[in-house]
Amino acid sequence: MTEQGETIRTVILTVDDDPGVSRAVARDLRRRYGGRNRIVRAESGADALEALRQMKLRGDLVAVILADYRMPGMNGIEFLERAMDIYPGARRVLLTAYADTGAAIDAINVVDLDHYLLKPWDPPEEKLYPVVDALLDAWMESDHRPVPETKVVGHRWSARCSEVREFLARNQVPYRWYNNDEPEGERLLEAAQADGLSLPVVITPDGEPLIEPSDAELASRVGLATTPSKDFYDLIVIGGGPAGLGAAVYGASEGLRTVLVERTATGGQAGQSSRIENYLGFPDGVSGAQLTDRARRQAAKFGAEVLTTREVTGLDACGSARRVTFADGTFIDAHTVILATGVTYRQLAAPGLADLTGRGVYYGSALTESSACLGQDVYIVGGANSAGQAAVYLSRHAKSVTLLVRGPSLERSMSYYLIKQIEDVPNISVRTCTEVIEAHGDDHLESLTLRNTASGDTETVDAQLLFLFIGAAPLTDWLDEVVVRDSAGFVVSGPDLSVSGERPRGWELDRMPYHLETSVPGVFVAGDARSESAKRVASAVGEGALAVMLVHRYLEKR
Ligand SMILES: Cc1cc2nc3c(=O)[nH]c(=O)nc-3n(C[C@H](O)[C@H](O)[C@H](O)COP(=O)(O)OP(=O)(O)OC[C@H]3O[C@@H](n4cnc5c(N)ncnc54)[C@H](O)[C@@H]3O)c2cc1C
Repeated sequence: MTEQGETIRTVILTVDDDPGVSRAVARDLRRRYGGRNRIVRAESGADALEALRQMKLRGDLVAVILADYRMPGMNGIEFLERAMDIYPGARRVLLTAYADTGAAIDAINVVDLDHYLLKPWDPPEEKLYPVVDALLDAWMESDHRPVPETKVVGHRWSARCSEVREFLARNQVPYRWYNNDEPEGERLLEAAQADGLSLPVVITPDGEPLIEPSDAELASRVGLATTPSKDFYDLIVIGGGPAGLGAAVYGASEGLRTVLVERTATGGQAGQSSRIENYLGFPDGVSGAQLTDRARRQAAKFGAEVLTTREVTGLDACGSARRVTFADGTFIDAHTVILATGVTYRQLAAPGLADLTGRGVYYGSALTESSACLGQDVYIVGGANSAGQAAVYLSRHAKSVTLLVRGPSLERSMSYYLIKQIEDVPNISVRTCTEVIEAHGDDHLESLTLRNTASGDTETVDAQLLFLFIGAAPLTDWLDEVVVRDSAGFVVSGPDLSVSGERPRGWELDRMPYHLETSVPGVFVAGDARSESAKRVASAVGEGALAVMLVHRYLEKR
């Protein structure tokens, strides 16, 4: 059964260039096997191969292939040889005339033939069905798990392949990963008629291959909205992390026409957290992916539009409307805007790291790469909670996890409960006063040079995987000269805007800015992007909700 409850029917494929014979075989097969199996009929080797490719891409199961020997263009043995590349587990039968018995016997070695059937096979009860019954039984006993979900074929050390996996995971799209050089990966590439040079190849659940798809293409194919349905809204929320999702849920549930615009995938930083333990109402913790999935469904339930893969690059006041411009130059307008753009990981400037990012070096994305950590020595840079969570999570897969911390201890930067957890995990070690000064590797990360910040001693260690959690900065340059920001780029709001109790410069209303209101009336800020914010999931969600309350006040008192 598929996840949707639809029964997967295994396929019996028959190919014969004589339409009469082809129909007769299919008819006999259908009579006995049609209930539990799908009978697919082709009249040439090329057509049959094309059918097999389509079925492979869709994740269908092919149990038995019956091919006529004498076919023009591609004979039955040649066809079965190529069919084996796509469905090596399918049982193979050659239909031959008596005169071709010799060729059929040769084929036993060439294509590992399971059986040859002499034509005519009448009566089928005696000559056809016992053979097919036995082959179906043998096939049932072999490993033939169905793969109805999205499939990704790529190179283990390709940065783009890593990004695509991250994108699918963060959007809660179930997928199965295949290395391009493993046999099933090669079979899928062959079925997709892809050259294997342009990777990744993403195969949608309905069997469509996408070669090196962009995020926007992926989003639209996996059913995520990317285009706004209206020109004008009551509220535009920019950013789909906890603050933005919180604002979208409260905005839409309170009757505002609300659209949320996210540049990558919803969830923000929290979406990358393996376990959030301090969010109210989840005593056993909750993964960022679960929290995001619930929040997104909740926003959709109340009627909020959620757009992904749309980056906002401009914000302007056009009279009473607020205009939000996308990277492609298109725009939408609204009465109000909530900025919930959070922060983005800082990059470490050590030589070698930039070239190896996505190829053994990862910023934050510990979750998708966790399977790659199996049996490996893993290094994590960072001394805050996000690094600590990743260490605990990855220690379940890795041989060892080494936390590299620049300061002399974790106490100042990490929560007490996490420090205790780390102490209790035997394969995590913490190296304080240590920094990464260089990364080495051709195709992917191979080693790291570390330096002791106290003694200055350096050491090179073998390393295939490095995860960095070294703090974050707001990406708000596009808001320069639009709203007031502090020296680090965080957006200033409410009372912090006023100087000595006076109204902020340029503020024309006869009231002071509301608590989360920026220097542009009707534009609010919530979550980590706000100057002096708490940098916590709960406070981001709370600010999203509070900002909506202030949006109502703004709309009432305009
Ligand atoms: C690994 C990790 C673990 C954490 N664990 C915890 C924890 O256990 N407990 C806790 O309380 N906090 C935790 N935090 C912190 C918490 O996740 C953040 O405080 C919270 O996510 C902030 O929410 P936000 O919505 O303000 O911003 P973000 O989560 O940063 O979301 C901002 C969103 O805006 C989008 N965006 C940015 N610019 C644009 C643009 N121009 N156009 C469109 N979209 C844009 C981004 O893509 C992003 O999705 C953790 C953080 C990390 C990284």
